[in-house]
Amino acid sequence: MEEINFDKLRQLMVDNQIIARGIRDERVISAFYETPRHKFVPENIRQDSYEDCPLPIGNGQTISQPYIVALMTESLRLKPTDRVLEIGTGSGYQAAILSKLCSHVYTIERMEALQKKAEETFRGLGILNISTKVGDGTLGWEEFSPYDAIIVTAAADNIPEPLINELNESARLIIPVGAFFGQILTLLEKNKGKVSRVEICGCTFVPLVGKYGHKY
Ligand code: SAH
Repeated sequence: MEEINFDKLRQLMVDNQIIARGIRDERVISAFYETPRHKFVPENIRQDSYEDCPLPIGNGQTISQPYIVALMTESLRLKPTDRVLEIGTGSGYQAAILSKLCSHVYTIERMEALQKKAEETFRGLGILNISTKVGDGTLGWEEFSPYDAIIVTAAADNIPEPLINELNESARLIIPVGAFFGQILTLLEKNKGKVSRVEICGCTFVPLVGKYGHKY
């Protein structure tokens, strides 16, 4: 079989799906050029890694569409000194992108099999500034709080209260909020203790399951 040129496919993905749709932050764009998405995708569908869609990663979960990862990342306006909490490690791709833009990523996944796999992928790529744990991310990760930014990559019907409490005084939180089959990507910004809320666009994520997650 002919070898797939993943570097070329990645370049096309960034140009056609991310830049062409309006992502402008140069640091975010570089992170996408540099992160090998195909290493985060199961081997049997690796040829589809740079397609314009979410993909199954096992255990009924998905790696998000590249553009959505970019949009959520850009919305957080990360500084190199920021510390970021992610809920829903999944494949680890979003965490790997974040790790290039901030000082440390803390990421929580409720499914141990996915956490283990993501941890292995980070090690394989020599990424050292991501800490992972298995657990219910809706409870937050108090030990390393407060965070400069929090990203939730699963859908909730409400913003989990513990996460709002773990934001520092001028932090951002991005989360899909809404019903089971369609949500609104929502950005919260804390500024000197005051919280503002902006709705960005419609989206569809797998459900956030946990104490402060979706009520079935
Ligand atoms: N960010 C991931 C995509 C995540 S899919 C990536 O880049 O690949 C959403 C993930 O959230 C799933 O793996 C799911 O198991 C996880 N999840 C759902 N509820 C959770 C919770 N309460 N705490 C931690 N992880 C959760």
